[in-house]
Amino acid sequence: MTDSNAVAEFRRELRDWLAENCPPGVRDGAEPTVETTPWGSSKIPLDSDSRLWLERMAQRGFTVPTWPVKYGGAGLDRDLYPVLIEELKRINARTPLTGRGVNYIGPTILELGTDEQKAKWLPGIARGEGGWAMGYSEPGAGSDLASLSCRAELNGDHYVINGRKVWTSDAMDCDYIFILARTDPDAPKHKGISLILVDMHQPGVQVSPIRLLSGASPFNETVFENAIAPAADVIGGINNGWTAGKRLLQFERSTHAGINTSGSQGGRTQDSELPRQLAPYLSNQPALRRALTAHEMAFAAQRLTQKRVIEETAANAPGFASSAVKLSNALITQAGDELRIATLGTNGIGWSGDFQPEELTATRTWLKQKSLTIAGGTMEVQKNIIAKRVLGLPD
Ligand SMILES: Cc1cc2nc3c(=O)[nH]c(=O)nc-3n(C[C@H](O)[C@H](O)[C@H](O)COP(=O)(O)OP(=O)(O)OC[C@H]3O[C@@H](n4cnc5c(N)ncnc54)[C@H](O)[C@@H]3O)c2cc1C
Repeated sequence: MTDSNAVAEFRRELRDWLAENCPPGVRDGAEPTVETTPWGSSKIPLDSDSRLWLERMAQRGFTVPTWPVKYGGAGLDRDLYPVLIEELKRINARTPLTGRGVNYIGPTILELGTDEQKAKWLPGIARGEGGWAMGYSEPGAGSDLASLSCRAELNGDHYVINGRKVWTSDAMDCDYIFILARTDPDAPKHKGISLILVDMHQPGVQVSPIRLLSGASPFNETVFENAIAPAADVIGGINNGWTAGKRLLQFERSTHAGINTSGSQGGRTQDSELPRQLAPYLSNQPALRRALTAHEMAFAAQRLTQKRVIEETAANAPGFASSAVKLSNALITQAGDELRIATLGTNGIGWSGDFQPEELTATRTWLKQKSLTIAGGTMEVQKNIIAKRVLGLPD
């Protein structure tokens, strides 16, 4: 806990610092995307303001505000963390650094890594040195992740890895990948798995795009053929990857839920865009106004819930609430998309050609966000977790 005088002093000092150090080019409030926000990839060049912003924020520990100072953080507690976020949003500052390094594997190493592993990996992640991919899913292992068959065999002081991962988002631009691999093939399926960090800059790691109907390929198949990883880079203990890997999934889900406090979140204040977008259609449309009002109330309740969970959760320690808030976030977002498309009518199902840019964006967003109830564990998987772990219902 930080007393109210110290909180006020922190806010004052922070305002001055931001006024002096936040470059104009990153004050557009852009929501984090690969195009707008650094996530550490050495393969994606940054414009000069984004680079400067990343360096200055990293120097203050503000890229990972709740991490301890010795690992590159600012050691902010749950009273100070929200102040940083409010002040970043107040000036429309972009998020300085995001991605699987800061939000998924970083907090997992912080919680489960050895002192050597923390010293080796965390300061670099905090400075945005290296983009990370996630190698969990396989052709035969999605929801039933423990069926994975990628193998890692110990050979002296390193593992030799062979197997295939699918749906590895952004792998073509990544420098590292954390994988779940079978390190004891004779153990029962939930045992004998390890969480291993792998350098992608080696011939044994091959990435090929999975092309989507849209022509884009954010996904990849990542194949390991005698790839090498030091045995010292197993996180959470050898053959303990099921426990460590599930913990990482909680960090992923808390990110999807908007309640991960590892990284700092900038962007605009998260007001719903829908009222502005639907305003031209509202007159003489009572049913639409009612639907929009109901949606806005659900949206506002979701934002308050996120805020409450952040305030109630010790820094960096998401729990099973992550599954519930991830699911409600996805469902509310998708409901907003449906409402927008229904309102736009045929203008909302354009793919190219004679449509307004905002209409084309609406169509693509609607289709893309269908994946929100699949990525990071499907809706049914989240409901199973909520039933068993939150509500205590029998298996
Ligand atoms: C946008 C996006 C990004 C992704 N990025 C990555 C990534 O970077 N790295 C990575 O490793 N993976 C990634 N994935 C893969 C994702 O984790 C899997 O798609 C997801 O876990 C589901 O697995 P699956 O596709 O094999 O479906 P399946 O597991 O085959 O599921 C098919 C259907 O059966 C249902 N089902 C399965 N089991 C149960 C059950 N026990 N009870 C009730 N219903 C069940 C599911 O809910 C689903 O509706 C990504 C997926 C998406 C959509």
